[in-house]
Amino acid sequence: MLDVNLIRKDFPILSSLVYGKPLVYFDNGATTQKPRCVIEKLTEGYVSHNANVHRGVHFLSQEATDLHEGARRRVQAFINASSSDEIIFTRGTTESINLVAYSFGECFLHDGDEIILSEMEHHSNIVSWQLLQQRHHVVLRVARLNDRQELDMEQFKSLFSDKTKLVSIAHVSNVLGTVNPVKQIVEESHRRGVPVLIDGAQSTPHLKVDVQDLDCDFFVFSGHKVYGPTGVGVLYGKRRWLEQMPPYQGGGEMIQNVTFEKTTFNELPYKFEAGTPDFISTVALAEALDYVESIGLEEIEEYEHYLLDYATERFVQMPGMRIFGNAREKSAVLSFLVEGIHHYDMGLLLDKMGIAVRTGHHCAQPLMQALGIDGTVRASFSFYNTEQEIDALVDGVKRVCKMFGV
Ligand code: PLP
Repeated sequence: MLDVNLIRKDFPILSSLVYGKPLVYFDNGATTQKPRCVIEKLTEGYVSHNANVHRGVHFLSQEATDLHEGARRRVQAFINASSSDEIIFTRGTTESINLVAYSFGECFLHDGDEIILSEMEHHSNIVSWQLLQQRHHVVLRVARLNDRQELDMEQFKSLFSDKTKLVSIAHVSNVLGTVNPVKQIVEESHRRGVPVLIDGAQSTPHLKVDVQDLDCDFFVFSGHKVYGPTGVGVLYGKRRWLEQMPPYQGGGEMIQNVTFEKTTFNELPYKFEAGTPDFISTVALAEALDYVESIGLEEIEEYEHYLLDYATERFVQMPGMRIFGNAREKSAVLSFLVEGIHHYDMGLLLDKMGIAVRTGHHCAQPLMQALGIDGTVRASFSFYNTEQEIDALVDGVKRVCKMFGV
């Protein structure tokens, strides 16, 4: 077991009071809190290493470049990519998916081609493809869920046709916590010659990811969900795809030579990184990944499972309680509704007790439609949460139930 009390001391915000009550932060699926070392790295970047990267001959610029490129290698190691050239820095998961939708779409997708998504996707893994539909008439095919809100693998396999050109699927559902069998999904897809993009926004904070072992073609995630800063994210892509794909945006850094007649593009990964990158945040992201690994992803997974089991056992005993997401492989997310209480009311009243949860559709409206609801209350856990905080949540939910006479 982790020494959670010691870990909590690393996160200044966790000792805040909200309405005079200790903050209980269960909105980790939306963004995680930052350890002091990450906050200090951001400050240190501006205080000591601030100069634009790649372009300068002067000392500070070279130092900033070394730090930034070191961060790229850190990300490479974190997800075990075979080369740092396959790591593209973006603003986050959303931009990474948009980049692939635009660039892979331009190169490899034509009218009538099909992309397989699942019913549990975040809007960023739906709308990016719909934008592509405005340029190419690609068809979106949707993998459905079974009664436990796991992917129905038989139905998934039945979606392939000779027109299927890509599978784009969440590693972990942000609403249900369902951990999809991504390795099997990649195997099934590759057997049919189809590449796979994995949305790792909700897996990287909780599970060890090895992109070579998964053999996925693209893997995307956000820094701010894995204890890093906002504004920086990652696109991993296999070199063979990235080399063929056209640039996503034009500007400085992504070029080799520019004339008014013709421009040639830079090599990987810079071809996809137009303009000044957020080099202060990439270094702080590397610090966050160091921090997470110093705790240990296996330890994190084990402890968060313990918290999830502890919370689930207590929740199922409450009258009128409905939990969404009963997958056998589940990450530390508890989405629920209490009969007769709107999710928004529940969230608002819990907030008054100092408990931060998320309410609503969680950017997954098609999933809400499939579940026949318009939203849930979501408590998403981190390794810095405690049993006592779960007790506070359970007591809070009970108090709200009492107010509503449930
Ligand atoms: N995909 C999933 C599964 C998510 O949970 C989220 C954010 O909640 C995103 C994509 C989008 O992430 P971002 O807003 O950091 O780009």
